Amino acid sequence: MRSLQALIDLVDLRWEQARARFGLPEDAIDFGFSVGDDYPHFKKERGYAVCFWHGGNKCRLLLSTKMIRAPKHRSDAIVRHELGHVFDFVLNDEWLSDFCHENGVDMPSTDERKADALAEAIWGDPILYDHQEVQSLKNGVAPRPAYLGL
Ligand SMILES: [Zn+2]
Repeated sequence: MRSLQALIDLVDLRWEQARARFGLPEDAIDFGFSVGDDYPHFKKERGYAVCFWHGGNKCRLLLSTKMIRAPKHRSDAIVRHELGHVFDFVLNDEWLSDFCHENGVDMPSTDERKADALAEAIWGDPILYDHQEVQSLKNGVAPRPAYLGL
């Protein structure tokens, strides 16, 4: 990424694309995000983003400022993965499983791999894990290695 604005634009773009793919009305999910470093996980090398579910249809993403400095293939993969969590939190499991199958992706049973599967079903690219164990669209392996937590 090159700037905070570029990151904000990326999240907005991916959010709108996903909403369109699912055919969701604008108010179906109460979604918002902020960028900042006031979160313990972000002190770790691979801590870039976290998704919070506030009950009902309300979700918030918190993105580290590291996201601004990261290469696009990394920050984009992280945004897609985190949005996968948002949909997993809010939308019906059976419906999401059908959506995955219609798009040629198996729906795993565990949260982290589910987020990746949803991202792949929405945008068509697998979420990879690079040598730093961070999500990437360009480098690394899929599915998510088990030792990172599933
Ligand atoms: Zn995750």
